[in-house]
This record gives sequence, C-alpha cells and structure tokens, in this order.
Amino acid sequence: MRQDDHSAFDPEARSRTRPDHRGQDPLPASLARTRVVELLKRVRVPAAETRVNDYPHQFSGGMRQRAMIAMGLSNEPSLLIADEPTTALDVTVQAQIIQLMKTLNRELGTAMMLITHNMALVASLCQRVVVMYAGRVVEEGPVDQIFQNPQHPYTWSLLRSVPRVDEARKDRLVSIRGLPPDLVSPPPGCKFHPRCPFVIDKCKTDPEPQLLEVATNQVARCWVLMRNVSQEDVAAAKTSVVSVEAAQKLKQEATSEESGIAGR
Ligand code: SF4
Repeated sequence: MRQDDHSAFDPEARSRTRPDHRGQDPLPASLARTRVVELLKRVRVPAAETRVNDYPHQFSGGMRQRAMIAMGLSNEPSLLIADEPTTALDVTVQAQIIQLMKTLNRELGTAMMLITHNMALVASLCQRVVVMYAGRVVEEGPVDQIFQNPQHPYTWSLLRSVPRVDEARKDRLVSIRGLPPDLVSPPPGCKFHPRCPFVIDKCKTDPEPQLLEVATNQVARCWVLMRNVSQEDVAAAKTSVVSVEAAQKLKQEATSEESGIAGR
C-alpha cells in the first residue's frame, strides 16, 4: 500500500478498472467488475455496487485508503506492506482504518508490515517493532517490551517525543536535537551520536556497535543502553529543549552547506 492515496489511482480511471493483478493475466471486464465489488465490500466501502463506477475524486480520503487496501488485497498476498497507511487522514478515519486492518488481518490471515512514524499505530496494530535510524536497525523486539523498556536512546527519544493519553505525565516532551545524518558521508561510529543525549567518547571513536541481545527477544545497537543511564542523566535529557539560538545555528549550518553544494 502506497503512502499517498492521490498518486495510487489514475484520476481518469473508475475504480472498477483498478484490480491490481500485476504479474497475472488481466481479468475479463465482467469478472473484473465482480471482483472489484467483492474487494470493495471486503474493505467495508458502503454501496460497493454503485461506488465501483466512481472516479477517485468522488471518494473521500478514508474511502480512497480503503480502496488502496482493496488493491493490496486483490492478489491475496500472504504479506501486505503498508507505507504510512494513515497519513493525511483525520483521527476518526485513522481509527476506522486501523480497525479495518485488524479485522482483515484476523479474517484473511494476511501478515502486515507497517512503515510508519505513528507510534499509536504501532502500539495498536503491531506485535513486533523494528526501529531504524540512518538505514540501520537500531532496536527490535516485541511491541509491549519496546514501549515499556526501550534500550536504544533513539527509541527512547521517539517514544518521549509524542504525547500519550494513557498516562498522567507531567514531563516535557523530548525533542531530538539536530538533523538526520547525511547518508552519503554519515558520522563515524554510532550514526546517532551527534544527536544522542547519552553519547560517550567511545560512541564517536569506535566502530558502530553491533545489534546485541538486551533482553529476551529484544536486540539493540548501543554501547550504553538505557538501563545503564543514570536517573540524573535521564532527567536532564527530558528537560533539555532545543533553544532558539541552537535552532538558528542549525539552520545557518544547513543553509551554508546547501549554498556550498550549489556552488560546486
Ligand atoms: S552508541 Fe552511544 S551515541 Fe549511539 S545510541 Fe548508544 S549511547 Fe547514543
């Protein structure tokens, strides 16, 4: 499933022309219509028999998302890969799509891989989570375990950068300082070290740490690990904010880098 529901559809094609049977012989028109109606019903598009004649612009954002899921399911895959499946949807529609994906997962037994920054989506849909930074897996484990006991500072920062309604927390949200690394010339050592609140010298000088088991079924790539960070350091990281001066400095650096590239 693509991230952008607008680019997933041909604006001039009605939904009945869109069953996604790549790699297979196209279905005859009459069978294609029946198949699309069946798929639209499966993803709970109301009045599927008439909506099958509609163009993409006649569908709402949530309906296009459902139609995209239907396209993904048309080949009856054993694995459905969904790239940011709820981006650009309002919260109510997001909840409906999440519920639909859960139901389809249960009904069809289709495994799902979500690519997302939406922690709420991960918490509500996934069993296992893989956290990536700069193209590397930095932590992996069961969702409950990772949410309760993250061991990599990036995972810890991500989880503390979003508000949660299930706990009465008075702490400030954590902002991750700096910018994502340049992947053409990434920083030496741990790729997260320029942004890590718990960095030590070894992180900058030694080769990148390996993924090591840190708990049952949980691996992380870090020299320090959150369980070894003192409460004082955690408290300091929680209260740190990106100052206006620091933000301006970062912007200046980025601008001068860009003009340097343009001048080359
Ligand atoms: S290895 Fe060092 S810089 Fe990298 S995440 Fe761990 S503490 Fe932070």
